[in-house]
Amino acid sequence: KKKIAVMTSGGDSPGMNGVVRAVVRMAIHMGCDAFCVYEGYEGLVRGGDLIKKMSWEDVRGYLSEGGTLIGTARCMAFYERPGRLTAAKNMVLNGIDALIICGGDGSLTGADRFRDEWPSLLEELVATKQLDEKQIAPYKHLNIVGLVGSIDNDLSGTDATIGAYSALARICEMVDYIEATASSHSRAFVIEVMGRHCGWLALMAGVATGADFIFIPEKPREDNWREEMCEIIKKHRGWGKRKTIVIIAEGAKDRHGGKITPEMLKDLLADKSGLALDTRITTLGHVQRGGTAVAYDRMLGTLQGVEAVKAVLEATPETETCFIAITENKIVRKPLMTAVKETQEVAKLIDAQDFAKAMSLRDTEFSD
Ligand code: ATP
Repeated sequence: KKKIAVMTSGGDSPGMNGVVRAVVRMAIHMGCDAFCVYEGYEGLVRGGDLIKKMSWEDVRGYLSEGGTLIGTARCMAFYERPGRLTAAKNMVLNGIDALIICGGDGSLTGADRFRDEWPSLLEELVATKQLDEKQIAPYKHLNIVGLVGSIDNDLSGTDATIGAYSALARICEMVDYIEATASSHSRAFVIEVMGRHCGWLALMAGVATGADFIFIPEKPREDNWREEMCEIIKKHRGWGKRKTIVIIAEGAKDRHGGKITPEMLKDLLADKSGLALDTRITTLGHVQRGGTAVAYDRMLGTLQGVEAVKAVLEATPETETCFIAITENKIVRKPLMTAVKETQEVAKLIDAQDFAKAMSLRDTEFSD
């Protein structure tokens, strides 16, 4: 009987609970034993109570809960081989031969490394007499499947990550609230949203709320961005608009790599010799992660969780490690490390201000 474990790792995102529920129930449906590893890789390293066999009822009500009910953590020990060695031992002791991980690019990189090292970890466990040959015999191949949980929608190779549409919906809701008070007082608001390397949330929130101006890492502003922004806002005000909304992603920069901050925008909008708008800054912060998943993320987590179990059951020792993507509205399996490497490459290119190359890898088009 196959024993499949599921874990959530890295930053939490709405929809992760849907993944856990789908994996547990699909595994049971297919005649396997289902396990949850609590607290991400920390649970694998610490073992004990943090690795639990799950029943069908254990995940009841998961779909409508926010965050991740099985916990997540950043685990320093898993970066080092001794930590991964203990994790391997705990997997064998619990009889787990397949692991489904829902997390960001870091978590998925860790997973790939774990699978790569697996044979040598088992050898070391035998050589150091922590386990014997008989114990490791059934676990020669570790089967890993990734699912992308992230509010940033920042992974290459998939149209949407689990949690991104929930965070976007939450941002829009918050901007709507802010707009009401902005209109009442005829104020300007600079709203900072998450996204260090990926401006998807800021861009889509700008489109969905009709913001006056946005700043994202992928489209650094030209030297005249101050004049450009003020001119557009002046035009909108001239049309009788009583509110001004500027959305800025955390990683916003100018053409020379200089950080553009909400404070800079506030000073500019409030400048007495210019627009002289009564301006406030709102940093949405962790509100963006919180709350329940929107229908799309519940659906995505469920369909991808089911597909992940199928991928585990169909895998052979030769199968390349995959993650589950959604591409052109289809749930598909793709090579894990190609997507992770591209994602990390894009982040580096954005830091290095090589936007044309970054965008060609991300397959996104931007136009004014
Ligand atoms: P987020 O998108 O929210 O940042 P993430 O999955 O990228 O999510 P990380 O903090 O990068 O978040 O990774 C989560 C955990 O995965 C780490 O705490 C660590 O335990 C493990 N991990 C990440 N990168 C590696 C790596 N290169 N080798 C081994 N383990 C890793």
